[in-house]
Amino acid sequence: MSRDLLVAGGGIGGLAAALAAHRAGWQARVFEQTRSLIEVGAGLQLGPNATRILRQWGLLEEARAMGCEPQRMVARDAMTGRELSSMPLGLDFQVRYDAPYLTLHRADLHGLLLSAVRDQGVALHTGHRIRGLEQDGHGVRLHVEGAAAPHEGDALVAADGLWSVLRQDLLGDRAARPSDHVALRGMAPMAQLPTQWHAPEVTAWLAPGLHVVTYPVQAGHTLNIVCVTRRAVEGQYTGWDLPATRERVQRVLAGVWPGLRELPDAVPRWGSWVLHDRPPVAGPEQMARRRVALLGDAAHPMRPYLAQGAAMAIEDAFELGRVLSAVDGAVIDVSAALARYALNRWERCARVQRRSLRNAGIFHASGLKRLARDAALRAMGRRLMDVPWLYGP
Ligand SMILES: Cc1cc2nc3c(=O)[nH]c(=O)nc-3n(C[C@H](O)[C@H](O)[C@H](O)COP(=O)(O)OP(=O)(O)OC[C@H]3O[C@@H](n4cnc5c(N)ncnc54)[C@H](O)[C@@H]3O)c2cc1C
Repeated sequence: MSRDLLVAGGGIGGLAAALAAHRAGWQARVFEQTRSLIEVGAGLQLGPNATRILRQWGLLEEARAMGCEPQRMVARDAMTGRELSSMPLGLDFQVRYDAPYLTLHRADLHGLLLSAVRDQGVALHTGHRIRGLEQDGHGVRLHVEGAAAPHEGDALVAADGLWSVLRQDLLGDRAARPSDHVALRGMAPMAQLPTQWHAPEVTAWLAPGLHVVTYPVQAGHTLNIVCVTRRAVEGQYTGWDLPATRERVQRVLAGVWPGLRELPDAVPRWGSWVLHDRPPVAGPEQMARRRVALLGDAAHPMRPYLAQGAAMAIEDAFELGRVLSAVDGAVIDVSAALARYALNRWERCARVQRRSLRNAGIFHASGLKRLARDAALRAMGRRLMDVPWLYGP
């Protein structure tokens, strides 16, 4: 029986899927539209639900070395700088969840997965823009722009991200919806920042209509900064991954605690992303159909307020590997395996999508809601910040 998996998209999700499939005894081929597989963007937090998987893949120690292990997650008032609450992320947390909480540069995580798939001999086809798919009882065909013939395989994973063309082919739904939030992201060399920024902590700075998240990456040499604000407040910006000026970030941070207002000057380049998402899929039949499965942002694009988009893609990939390893061509065929993948994944991803969205209202609260939030954080913040159903095995 042939076990040939086509993977559309060479982002974190696509590479993780190719790696998991290879470990499950499948031949994986990755098709990526960009010419060079170089990940841009900024930082990523990875909860223990994702780092446990990196350990199973033999990648955790390298990830640890290139990232940081924050010792606390802290909520602060962005207007005064005062701490509202914190949750330790040190040894107790690691023992409780059997893995560390890491912060990494996206490019480092992507590079780690890339070298793992290269080491396994996975075929990587860059400069291949996918146009669509077809499937029948015998296999699946992937159409690539400019190619005379389609690429054929036994199964296809659509990991082509937020703007997935394969999702539209498969489900016929609309493009991802733009939210009224925009994220401004930048990275500052730690050496240029006062020591208060050097602490190994993930901090969420909360203000009405605005939140800022800061954490160290690259073994503590760089501070990752994300400012999320409403587009209406900030100007009618549109677009994804566009350059942003320092003045624009300064405007967004006008009025917050002076320590935070130091940050824009320390960042050489700011970027801007209008955040998009989709409602969760309605059921497993929308996450996999016969020989094709959606994975990562193609399946469940979410707001970043729970810092779980890449982690969910990694979990998807792990589950994909598990079901693919069971395909024997007799009792379990490809369609049955992918249906099982969808069944095991869709609800959890939907829950994370919903929780992420809910966090937006909490982070940006104003007036009485803000006072109530702050009181709750002070009284039982540690319990509120922990998410056992998400982080736990
Ligand atoms: C501001 C912000 C902060 C975030 N913070 C976190 C965090 O802290 N923790 C976390 O876990 N997640 C975080 N995320 C989410 C995370 O970045 C994404 O969920 C994750 O990268 C999704 O990976 P993916 O592989 O599914 O999609 P992508 O990374 O988008 O990869 C898709 C790939 O497919 C390729 N592709 C697309 N279309 C085609 C085509 N037609 N043909 C061929 N190739 C194609 C693309 O070029 C790309 O390489 C954040 C996101 C944002 C916006």
